[in-house]
Amino acid sequence: MVGGGIFKPGDTVRPMRSVIPSGVRPAAAARKQAPIVAENLLAVMDGRKMTAAYDGYGSCPLTVERGKIVLAEFGYGGKLLPTFPTWLIDGTKPSTLAWYLKAEALPPIYWHAMLKGREWLASPELKGEAA
Ligand SMILES: Cc1cc2nc3c(=O)[nH]c(=O)nc-3n(C[C@H](O)[C@H](O)[C@H](O)COP(=O)(O)OP(=O)(O)OC[C@H]3O[C@@H](n4cnc5c(N)ncnc54)[C@H](O)[C@@H]3O)c2cc1C
Repeated sequence: MVGGGIFKPGDTVRPMRSVIPSGVRPAAAARKQAPIVAENLLAVMDGRKMTAAYDGYGSCPLTVERGKIVLAEFGYGGKLLPTFPTWLIDGTKPSTLAWYLKAEALPPIYWHAMLKGREWLASPELKGEAA
């Protein structure tokens, strides 16, 4: 919530304390923020405290050459927040598997799952108290 009872996820949010430059707003962040906003909005409507907190998650596929990207996933303070085990995809190194994930696997997942509201890996972390 940004004040005045306004909740906003996605590109309208200015990244705070993040390693993401302020002009860059990835869909990866919006994907994580949307269920947090939903959870906190429902909490406020029910008269409960907001407990879902955003860890600053963002993801940037950094193309370093044709066929290889660095799938950088990080949160506030540059903390690494990998989705996959590092033995599979190391988010600090270029890899061919990360390229295929980005180029081949993720587009149908975006269109047919995430954008239709189906998501299994973006549940918000619930805390005792959140701002
Ligand atoms: C070229 C490019 C490449 C990108 N690559 C990546 C990437 O690889 N990975 C990644 O994570 N992110 C990437 N992004 C960023 C990603 O697209 C955005 O972060 C994401 O789309 C933000 O989602 P959103 O729902 O906040 O906003 P949007 O997707 O912009 O949705 C806002 C919607 O509101 C509508 N709208 C605007 N004004 C009004 C109005 N007055 N009334 C009604 N509707 C309105 C718009 O038409 C739009 O549909 C890229 C962006 C660009 C431009």
